[in-house]
Order: sequence, then structure tokens, then C-alpha cells
Amino acid sequence: MSTIDQQLVSRVVSEVLARLQTQAPAAKPAQTSFGVYDQMNDAVEAAQRSFEKLRDDGVSARKKAIAVIRRLCVAKSQEWGSIEFEETKIGRRDHKIEKLKICGDLVPGVEMLERMAFSGDFGLTIIDFAPWGVIGAITPSTHSVPTLTGNAINMIAAGNAVVFNTHPAAAKCAAIAIRAYNEAIFQETGISDLLTTVVKPTLDTFNDMCKHPDVKLLCVTGGPAVVAAAMKTGKRAICAGPGNPPVVVDETADIKHAALSIIAGASYDNNLLCIGEKEVFVVESVADKLIAEMKAAGAVQLDAAQIEALTKKAFVFPEGKGAGCPHATVNRDLVGRDAAVLAQSIGLNVPPSTQLLFGETRADHIFVDEEQMMPFIPIVRVPDVATGIKEAIHAEHGYKHTAIMHSQNIRALTTMAQKVDTTLFVKNGPSTTGLGLGGEGFLSFSIATPTGEGVTTPMTFTRSRRCVMVESLNLY
Ligand code: NAD
Repeated sequence: MSTIDQQLVSRVVSEVLARLQTQAPAAKPAQTSFGVYDQMNDAVEAAQRSFEKLRDDGVSARKKAIAVIRRLCVAKSQEWGSIEFEETKIGRRDHKIEKLKICGDLVPGVEMLERMAFSGDFGLTIIDFAPWGVIGAITPSTHSVPTLTGNAINMIAAGNAVVFNTHPAAAKCAAIAIRAYNEAIFQETGISDLLTTVVKPTLDTFNDMCKHPDVKLLCVTGGPAVVAAAMKTGKRAICAGPGNPPVVVDETADIKHAALSIIAGASYDNNLLCIGEKEVFVVESVADKLIAEMKAAGAVQLDAAQIEALTKKAFVFPEGKGAGCPHATVNRDLVGRDAAVLAQSIGLNVPPSTQLLFGETRADHIFVDEEQMMPFIPIVRVPDVATGIKEAIHAEHGYKHTAIMHSQNIRALTTMAQKVDTTLFVKNGPSTTGLGLGGEGFLSFSIATPTGEGVTTPMTFTRSRRCVMVESLNLY
């Protein structure tokens, strides 16, 4: 063989070997469980190692990891939505599947990251938005895999790794998704533990996670207890807390559209969403029409006696809570159950396809006051829109979460927008439009309310870092 032939053969052989190497599945690294660990400390340490590798591999590795998560959450939506539904037994299977599918498209990635530059006589300063490292995330039972999927895309886009302390009632489905995401990310990037968790999350693992020095930031999605617990840890916590979204319907509204929107929003996943409509204040002159339109659209009206019977089933009054008398808490057995199951609990048969129950109550009724998370919505008559806005603000309890209004009156819409002061304010549509489902904008299932970051994005999970070059690198 001539020297040229020999060179050609050896080049072809090395190219073929190189191609085979890139196509062959990467071998599993010795120490990994692909994100699912028995001990919280192991979960944090694995995430820290993966964070360091992600930092070394740059933004292109972030993009590859996010692309994997987007692809998988859509491809696995049927399977994972069903597994989550079977495990938690709350909400609706079709909506659990849909919530996963929409994460693929609607959760923003690295394109959302900003940077700034200042150039002048003194030189050049740039501000970059850098990762924190490992973020400790707490997810709710109401949407376990969708919340962790949205968190994962946002947090990895910002260059972080995440350790999750998931809700114990929705931990198995979360672990299945975390392992699958890591295995697929590993094939693309060689990084095995960008998302980690523990098999059995408890309050102890929550404390271990919060205390670990490698966990630099917390992101909590849940009710009042976990928000309070996270704020006491001494670490910065981004808190996506509870809501009790009121709806105001005034005399200028398109009443049929308002009725359809209220049914769509309040029945979505059996009213588990923190943004879901939880109580309605309707101006007296259009109240009968709203009720008629809701009935025409298939919602079932309960009378006063039926509402009181359901109240007794839907709330429990544990002794020792509240000031002097027991304070109501929602009965977990009815949270997120079908409208037909709520009806059945008071001896009423309604078609299994019924989306929503509703009924008239006073403004001080417990169904107005509490975040019921079930497909019964109370309707309160008010004399005018100003009273409706006042009552809505009262019912929202200053959670600064979500409010909805149906009106064609620009002045009334503006007044409510300004006074209610919520993170999301939806006008003339169902609450779900506030998260990009039929409304403009992006999605995250963690809406940071008491801490003010709003619907979380990759930018929420960054640190601002300034880099100054003195008297150089400015171009003029
Ligand atoms: P939850 O508060 O019972 O649980 C949320 C998480 O916190 C779980 O992982 C749970 O194990 C943990 N937790 C609860 N108490 C804790 C404590 N004292 N210390 C440490 N961890 C604790 O909530 P849930 O029923 O699963 O979810 C529904 C609640 O979450 C509603 O109030 C809803 O409004 C809210 N939520 C808010 C958002 C948002 O984006 N703002 C999104 C989803 C749900």
C-alpha cells in the first residue's frame, strides 16, 4: 500500500471509530442513581456534581438538557399523567396529561436570559445573570410532575441543578419522571443528576435539604405551611404560595361568555389550580342571567340546604386551631374530586360528566373564605360593581395571587386591576388564560406570589453579576 493509501485508510478508520463512539450510548457513571436517592445528602451532592459539570459544558449543554425535557414531557404525557392521577387520586386524568403536554411548548428556556452592557470613557461593564448552583425545590400534590418539569426547564436554563423534596402523596410519579429525564439528559450530555430527589420525602428530608450548604436557593410551591417553613430557614426562598381567586361579573359583561369561562376555569383539573376561580361576585341585575347560562352550559346548581350539607362534608374543624373556636380546614378526602363525587357525598346524583357544581351563598360563607380546591363554586350577589370589587379584595385575603373580572367597562376593569393588586389579573376569559392556555404569555406552575417574582422564568433563578473592565475594551 502506498503511503497515501495508508494515510487514507487510517483516516477512514479513525472517523468510523469516532462516529461509533458518538452513537454508542454513554456508559452509566459509577456513582449515579439517575437522580433518585435514599438520602437527601446524597441527592444534594449528586446535584452539586452535575451543576459543576453543567457549568463547565456551557449554555449548549443547558440547551440540550432542556430539549430533552421538552421532548419527554410531551412524549410521556399520557403515561405520566395517568401515573400521577392513579397515585394522587385527585384532579382529572385528561387535564393531568394536558398540563404535561403544554410544558413542552410554553415554559421558556435560555432565550429568556438577559444581559446588560455599559460602554463609555471609563471602559466596559457587563452584567450577566449567573446560576446559583443547586436549588432546593418543593412541589405540591396538585401538580407534581408538571411543576417539577416547569421548574427543571427554568432552573437548568439558568445553569442550575435542582434537588426536589416532592409532596409525599405525589412522590412516586415525580421520581419516575426525574429518573427518565436524567437518563435521557445523560445520553445527550453525559450529565446524570441535574434533577435529584429522595424516594421518601418527609419533613426531615425537607430540613436536611434546607440546611445543606450546597443548596443556595429555595423555590417552594405549596400552601401556607410550607411557605412559612421555607421563610424561616434563613435561606432566600422564592415562594409560590396559596391563592383564593375571586371573580367579579358586572352588568356590562358578556354574560354567556362569563358563564362558560367560569365553568372552564373552576372545573379545570377539578379546581386544583392555585389560579382557578374559587368564588364569584355578580352584580344583582345580571345574576339570574349568569345562573341561567351556567345551568344551560351543564353546571349543576345546589339549593341552600344542599350547599350546607356539602359544607359539612367539605370542611373539617379541628379542635385547637383558630382563635377560641376551631378553624376550618378543607377536607382532603374531597379535594380535587369529580363534581359527581361531591354531589354523591350529599346524596345527590348528577351525570358523571358534570364539570361544576355551584350555588348562591352569602359573602361570609366558608366556601368564599377558604381555598376549597374542588369543583363547587359559590356565587354571591352584590348590588353594584364597586361592592363586587370590595368583596373580591376581601376574599383574596391579600395573597396577591390571582383575580378575574368579566366586564366591558374600562373604568371598572382598571379600578379592579389597580386595587386587587394580584400577580395575575385576567379579564374576560378563564383563569387558565393567565398561564398561556388561550391567553398570551408563557407558562410556569410556580407563581411566586408573597415573594413577588411572579410567574417564574429562567431569570427568577439567576444571580446578577457585574464584571468591570477599567479604561479598556470600549470601542470608542
Ligand atoms: P401543601 O402545602 O400541602 O404541600 C406543598 C409541599 O409542601 C409538599 O411538598 C409538602 O410535603 C410540603 N409541606 C407542607 N407543609 C410543610 C411544612 N410545614 N414543612 C415543610 N414542607 C411542608 O400543598 P398542596 O395541597 O400539595 O398544594 C396546594 C396548595 O399549593 C394550595 O394552597 C395552592 O394554592 C398552592 N399552590 C400554589 C401554586 C403557585 O404557583 N402559587 C402552585 C400550586 C399550588
